[in-house]
Amino acid sequence: MATYDISTDALVIRAVPQGDHDRLLTLLCPEEGRITVIAKGARSLRNKLMSPCRAFVWGNFELHHKGDMAWVRDASVIKSFTALEKDIELMYLAQYISDVCCELSGQGEPPGELLPLALNTFHALCSEKYDRAIVKAVFELRAAAISGYLPELGECIRCEKTDAPAFYMDVMSGGIVCSDCIASSPENIQIPNEQLLVDALGTRSIIIPISAGVLAAMRYVVNAPMKRLLSFGIASENDKNTFARVCETYILNHLERGFSSLSLYHELSKN
Ligand SMILES: [Zn+2]
Repeated sequence: MATYDISTDALVIRAVPQGDHDRLLTLLCPEEGRITVIAKGARSLRNKLMSPCRAFVWGNFELHHKGDMAWVRDASVIKSFTALEKDIELMYLAQYISDVCCELSGQGEPPGELLPLALNTFHALCSEKYDRAIVKAVFELRAAAISGYLPELGECIRCEKTDAPAFYMDVMSGGIVCSDCIASSPENIQIPNEQLLVDALGTRSIIIPISAGVLAAMRYVVNAPMKRLLSFGIASENDKNTFARVCETYILNHLERGFSSLSLYHELSKN
């Protein structure tokens, strides 16, 4: 059986107890992509793996591979985002972000921008300088955009018009539709503002009205340099809520699934 050792930086996106003393970790690495590794003794108080081998740690990991299995030989913390666990609502949000990263990454596939995006998102949530709902929405839209679901936000996907009295987001078709095209296709379903869009999963057509402010924010998020991703403002509370709903609906419908971490977050945050 082939054995080899590697040393890699990695973000722990999942840590599950195994047996009495161990943890099973899911790591997101810059080269190897997503790897599942066993951290022996990581739940024992005096073990050296205890602090680096837990969820929301960005660290360096010495891994020993044997066949399909891998073990952590040694590990050290580079940056710990364990402040995310101090508040249960924040913890579920961080877990949801990790779950999306898990879904969008693959074994042996470098995650590209997804890894710095996850790190930036954790950093922003720990700093508490930003509105959580905005940080979450920015992560969702950018993660979708860099994972093959880049929405068309420049022109109407039906008539290619760039200017119109109003635009709508056609979630399933992955782009904006102008008000003229919407008016000429009465079969389109419009989701009322108050409806939780998680309920709309599986619906064939999801059309959400978006204001100029929301469209500008979406365009910003898909194009901005990573370091300036959160350097934009949303004027009204209404726009903020629509932006959050559009981004969440967009990624969930493209991933074709929901997440229990997200449902728990919504239950606690009541939005
Ligand atoms: Zn149109």
